Amino acid sequence: MYFLTDEEKKHLLRYHLPRARERGVAEELRGWNWHQPPLEPVYKDVILALYEVANAYCPTGRDVYLRRVQKEKGQPNVAMVRGTIFHAVVAGVIVAAKRAIYGEGVANCQAICERIQSHPALSLGTWVNQLSSEDFEATTSMAEILAAFEKTRVLARIQEILTKQPYIGEDSLVSLALPVVVEQKLDGSFIGLSPNLSTDAFVFWEPMVLDMKFDRVRNFHRLSTTGYALVMEALYEFPVNLGCVIYGEFRGDRLIVKKDIHIISDELRQWFVETRDEKARLVAEEIDPGTTGECYETCPYYHVCFA
Ligand code: SF4
Repeated sequence: MYFLTDEEKKHLLRYHLPRARERGVAEELRGWNWHQPPLEPVYKDVILALYEVANAYCPTGRDVYLRRVQKEKGQPNVAMVRGTIFHAVVAGVIVAAKRAIYGEGVANCQAICERIQSHPALSLGTWVNQLSSEDFEATTSMAEILAAFEKTRVLARIQEILTKQPYIGEDSLVSLALPVVVEQKLDGSFIGLSPNLSTDAFVFWEPMVLDMKFDRVRNFHRLSTTGYALVMEALYEFPVNLGCVIYGEFRGDRLIVKKDIHIISDELRQWFVETRDEKARLVAEEIDPGTTGECYETCPYYHVCFA
């Protein structure tokens, strides 16, 4: 899921990268300027998770108010449970492939491939209580489709590099065939966020934050990549100009993958910071923003808002 196709790579190199470099970013909106406005958090005592800032499924932000001020617990819906499972499936295959390369060594290509092939999709046993039997069955089959897709992509990349590089070592093979860090842990404190953030993936040949969604395209999805880019700039002091939201969709027994590669622009950075401060204000001043006509029945807080 995290690997770009040749066409996407070409598009990235010929279109997005030159534009990102040309356009530039206002200096005060770079993450390393976290200690001064506008990045400096207005409500320093309120620590939000990145998803609380970036998710706008609740149009008024009442979900954050209920969780943080009223201490209400949400009830995860099927899409949320599935999202968690699918993320674990993809991360599991990539980590298993890295382990197989280091464990078997490049001289044992067959053994590497067999280990990756036999990696289980995921033990879904622990999730059984959170899904109806029908949803559980459907989710299991989707997880298998996803794992099979990811294994095929990973194996093709490993074999491609091995055929080109006869003298390659394990570490180099991992960095060329699997140039992503999955579930990278980040401390978001500088930006007024939780110290325990985790990005879906980060590619290191051109700093780009990747976020995977199993949802329809929504404009606020780019806020997640923007938030992580700001955090990485604050932590490591290098520019992160690009984000990519990867959309996975199951159609029958097929997986459709689309990628939204985008520049982490001034507008997105500004939008993220304003949303962070606005949601932090709801919590700090205990303001209930109320419900809206746009509530959806699968909202984790529907049972609270419409009791
Ligand atoms: S039910 Fe509506 S107002 Fe309440 S948290 Fe959900 S989307 Fe927000």
